[in-house]
Amino acid sequence: MESYDLIVVGAGPGGSVAAMTAAELGMKALMLERANYPGEKNASGFALSSKGERDFPFLKEVEFPSMRIGRRTQAHFLSPPPEMEERFSMVTATSRRISYPEGRDYFVKTMYRPELDRYLAERAVRKGAELRLKTLVTGMVWEAGKVCGVRTEGGEEYRAPVVIGADGVMSMTARMAGLREKFGRDEVVSLCTVDYAVPKERADAVIHENCFQTYFAPGFGGLYLIVMADGVHVGGPGVTNSLVSRAVRKRINPAKEVLQMINCPPIQRQLTALDARPREWQAHMLPWMDQFNRRIYTGGFMLVGDAAGVPEPLWAEGVWQAMYSGRLAAETAHEALQEGDTSASSMQRYCDRLEQSPVGQEFIAGVQLRQLFEMLGDPVIFDEATDLLVDLSNNMLWNCQEPKAVSINRLFPILFENLPLLMGMLRVYAPILLETGGDSLRKRIEMIKGVAAMVAQMTGGEVEA
Ligand SMILES: Cc1cc2nc3c(=O)[nH]c(=O)nc-3n(C[C@H](O)[C@H](O)[C@H](O)COP(=O)(O)OP(=O)(O)OC[C@H]3O[C@@H](n4cnc5c(N)ncnc54)[C@H](O)[C@@H]3O)c2cc1C
Repeated sequence: MESYDLIVVGAGPGGSVAAMTAAELGMKALMLERANYPGEKNASGFALSSKGERDFPFLKEVEFPSMRIGRRTQAHFLSPPPEMEERFSMVTATSRRISYPEGRDYFVKTMYRPELDRYLAERAVRKGAELRLKTLVTGMVWEAGKVCGVRTEGGEEYRAPVVIGADGVMSMTARMAGLREKFGRDEVVSLCTVDYAVPKERADAVIHENCFQTYFAPGFGGLYLIVMADGVHVGGPGVTNSLVSRAVRKRINPAKEVLQMINCPPIQRQLTALDARPREWQAHMLPWMDQFNRRIYTGGFMLVGDAAGVPEPLWAEGVWQAMYSGRLAAETAHEALQEGDTSASSMQRYCDRLEQSPVGQEFIAGVQLRQLFEMLGDPVIFDEATDLLVDLSNNMLWNCQEPKAVSINRLFPILFENLPLLMGMLRVYAPILLETGGDSLRKRIEMIKGVAAMVAQMTGGEVEA
């Protein structure tokens, strides 16, 4: 039996950052991973948001072979099946209003998971953590009502006053620690993905920095298309359909839906332009919680990453969240060891900090914003919203069929006709605005009232207080 200060189960992004942080803080840390190498069993292609470099500056020095920078993002709105052609498409650059420089520079960097996971695990080892591969954790060791070690399939026992469960969505450690059996039906989504090999020159020429694209069609959940340096990852079904299926308590068939959507002409044209060759088919689960999960600790034990259910509740982004929670958990473990208190109340500090951090804050607005997707999941509303976008852009900007003076005058009729839709959207945004920015919003409303009064005075009108 070997003893450590901290044992981390799982060498995904959450586990590796936990082990790396612990080693940097001078703890003797052990990381146990069931796979042959870190990232072997994880979803292959993915996009890491610029929050990663903001919070983990060492990532700025990393240049993986599969990496592509995403300074543009594109959403495609398609017509209903069987046509499924482009009706409205929107490419956006980053906003200059984003609060940190990396976020103003780019949205995401795309890459293959084995490269990132391997790099993070190796960095943890370089910092002093120990990594054991091909080691499946199957049991937990308890002492005085607290977790104090783990057992492996091979019969080894490892001891530590704190154990971190970073073993992903199907977390066995969560169950063994008595925190839950497994995530409930409505706490997970299933995603299917197809990975394609593409020649790098083609990807550079066709995609360049527009490497994170989404496709939506009425009645379909939507698909994401992520382009790496020399690969494409198409996955779904997206959030809207997961929500609709959840709302009507009916499970959709993700594999069927993804394949049907991949066959739509705009995606096929992209794949042809890229000379994409199918390479791998994958099916994965992902936690997707309606509220921040507080059942993530007990005496001597904390859950991080997917095991804790922290993926962001609107788009289900989870790698930065796993890394962030891994670091917080390791810091809490370090504090607990210094104080000689690994009780549940000591571990609770991790949960409180995570809830107050940007990871937890996402659950304030993210879940409410899902109602927008719920609305768009209705094929009729989706069509109306697409009509609105098409009508506005055609009549206000891109009209070459009629005199501008005629088409521009359609603005108010278009807005008026779409009032129920616009009010529906406002009904989703207004409570979030009031909850998150109540005071400043009230001040702005007062300011608008003041300006209105001033204008009325100047023009000789009367204004009610
Ligand atoms: C299809 C798909 C696409 C995604 N795309 C994105 C994206 O673009 N951007 C983004 O930010 N997020 C994305 N995510 C979410 C992201 O993949 C997860 O949130 C992230 O992997 C969570 O990291 P983790 O370290 O918590 O868990 P994981 O990455 O799941 O790592 C858990 C590790 O624990 C190991 N393990 C499990 N059980 C045991 C055991 N008993 N003993 C030892 N080892 C064990 C596993 O082998 C694994 O290596 C996507 C998810 C899916 C499914």
